[in-house]
Amino acid sequence: MYKLFFKILLIVTLSHACGSATINVIKKENKDTSNTLLVIAGIHGDEPGGYFAASILATHYTIKSKNVWIIPNLNKDSIRADVRGINGDMNRKFSYTEKNDKDKEIIEEVKKIILSKNISLIVNLHDGHGFYRKKDAGSVFNPNAWGQTCVIDQCKPIQNQPFGNLDAISSRVKEKINKNLIEPHHSFDVKNTNTKFDDEMMRLSLTYFAVTNNKPAFAIESSKNLSSVSQKVYYQLLALEEFMKIMDISFTKDFELKEKEISKLINDYGTVAINENILLNFNDIKKNLAYIPLKQKENQFKFSHPLADFKKIDDTYVINIGNKQMTILKPEFIGISDSCPKKIDVEIDGKITSINKSSDFFVNDDFKILEHKNMRVNIIGFTPKNNSSESGVKVNLKALNKNFSVDTNGKVYRVEFYKGNDFCFMSMVHFK
Ligand SMILES: [Zn+2]
Repeated sequence: MYKLFFKILLIVTLSHACGSATINVIKKENKDTSNTLLVIAGIHGDEPGGYFAASILATHYTIKSKNVWIIPNLNKDSIRADVRGINGDMNRKFSYTEKNDKDKEIIEEVKKIILSKNISLIVNLHDGHGFYRKKDAGSVFNPNAWGQTCVIDQCKPIQNQPFGNLDAISSRVKEKINKNLIEPHHSFDVKNTNTKFDDEMMRLSLTYFAVTNNKPAFAIESSKNLSSVSQKVYYQLLALEEFMKIMDISFTKDFELKEKEISKLINDYGTVAINENILLNFNDIKKNLAYIPLKQKENQFKFSHPLADFKKIDDTYVINIGNKQMTILKPEFIGISDSCPKKIDVEIDGKITSINKSSDFFVNDDFKILEHKNMRVNIIGFTPKNNSSESGVKVNLKALNKNFSVDTNGKVYRVEFYKGNDFCFMSMVHFK
């Protein structure tokens, strides 16, 4: 699990370091065979059921045999804005993309991934309108709805492909889901768009591009009309698990596939490590944090969440997990010292302990940062008497100004270490 976690962090970091429109691909691989399931989510930015399902597959499943590649947030800018397509519908650009289309780079890149030799089955995750029914039963339940379907472009099997029987595979996925419905009206069906003959628009889609290139592809559409994102994710994950079974991909997961458990996972936003000297936890973080010591440029953000992303707006960093804005960091540009200690000594509730740089420490009553040679300490929210040093002084919760806490409860504070004019690292003190 640790190894896997590291892999995710690395991928996210590199994509951010480049600052381009490149795609995050999380690869969970084994050496037994090259057979690979490719899961793509977030082609439409306002469909969180799909992209949170992909993110949970990336972080809470261990793949024990064969391979799974996950693109959790294909259309990042649209996800951040929570709109279908900030540059138009990305899923209508796969047969042809205009030269100056802002999505062109992403389309070309994902096409290459789809055509990779090892990819043997592709699932594109969506949240669709309404509940698909073969007979018209009103504005929500009707043949034009997309919700609660496994979509295929044709019934005819794709030749010489181990998973080419789109009809049989989609039927199996449908049956699996229908045995595990939360409510009876969530029932699933196969929707064959018969794309080549009947559906001009779908001929421009990602799955049709795949199928016409001899790659079996399916879309899973949970319903936008389900009552929560967790319910949407529940059905997406049920479908993905069945695809993995069909492909003989063995896996384990660290949670129970239940709506409540999924909700907990969706609301865990994880952390970001910045320049390896600041660690911020997004759970219960304030909406704005000021004077964050950053470099003028090339700051490195390592997020633990696959859907995390930042956008630089003026001089601030706006951090999102999917469509949810976590916080806005207002930097104080500063030099970074390269001769900082790896550990510091802190007296916590009367007991001296050595803690690693930029780690968190937990206090019942008070703490005191011990004097370190050539180091200056700045406890944000604390004003020492007579402007004396902030190390060697006992600090309790009452002595701290809540306006400066990192969390919304006023219990977590920044302790910053400097050498001369340069920044070393930031630790967090938590009052229990
Ligand atoms: Zn969609």
